[in-house]
Amino acid sequence: MPAQLLEGKVIAEKLKLAIKAEVESLKAKTGRALKLAALQIDENASSAIYVKAQKRAALDLGLEYEFVEMPIETSRAEAEELIKNMNNDARITAIILQLPVPRYMDARKLTNLISPAKDAEGVTPENLGHILLGDYKIAPCTAMAVGELLESTKVDLYGKEAVIVGHSAIVGKPLSLILLNEFATTTVCHIATAERDALQDHVKRAEILIVAVGKPGVVKGEWIRDGAIVIDVGINRVGDKILGDVEFETALKKASYITPVPGGVGPLTTTILMRNVVELFKAQFI
Ligand code: NAP
Repeated sequence: MPAQLLEGKVIAEKLKLAIKAEVESLKAKTGRALKLAALQIDENASSAIYVKAQKRAALDLGLEYEFVEMPIETSRAEAEELIKNMNNDARITAIILQLPVPRYMDARKLTNLISPAKDAEGVTPENLGHILLGDYKIAPCTAMAVGELLESTKVDLYGKEAVIVGHSAIVGKPLSLILLNEFATTTVCHIATAERDALQDHVKRAEILIVAVGKPGVVKGEWIRDGAIVIDVGINRVGDKILGDVEFETALKKASYITPVPGGVGPLTTTILMRNVVELFKAQFI
């Protein structure tokens, strides 16, 4: 039997209803607005798409959205000043720094300046540290989106073999901690795993497989363990198509659940961002 599709859009619609209701009640209770400020340095086509989606999602859910666009000539000191001003602006309750920033700026250094209390993407060292401790309310949106997709299957992660391919700071690493917190037996693969030709061996063991690499078809469908849950985070433009990191057609025949690309993880991430904004507001004012 082919795998069931895990479609982020369906889960996102449910989450949005809950977020909208909570935003209304928080505004009534505190008399304050929830406001997400987005800083973009240099006009960039890929972040322009995200900004549009963020603005629409924020306004739909009753949040305010302020977009600050700075030219490529912006100096590092000016960017740092802007973030500090946003931290100190009482009307702004959450901040997102759109990536990429120009190459001469250190994205991590700028990110570290965002106040953890206003860190909408959960990417500051303090908020990442809370995932390690297991007492987090917010986390990087993509990692949280994967968590929601897994939860929607109702499969108990306790003791399951989970394999994550990719160890970036915004997807693979936080996810490894999120899964460990659920007592999954968690393996993280990366470039060195592939270099010693061991990727296949790990993937074959996975009852839960999450792939976040950014290389189309890096995981072959035939490697998938029968009945595995497969979450494909990858987004790769190949000609006029968008493909994931997993060979979809063959994986579909072996998995119990699988995310389509596009339509799997992607549609959930913006909604999770808005939920993070709500959680930050509650921590600040409730
Ligand atoms: P990234 O920072 O480039 O990380 C990719 C990871 O894959 C790195 O850990 C890298 O290891 C590892 N890797 C590279 N080649 C590999 C191989 N052959 N075998 C095993 N591991 C390998 O990327 P990212 O930001 O995590 O994003 C990953 C993918 O997810 C991209 O396609 C991106 O577009 C997509 N994405 C989707 C969403 C969404 O909303 N759906 C959100 C974020 C990202 P090294 O660093 O050691 O080389």
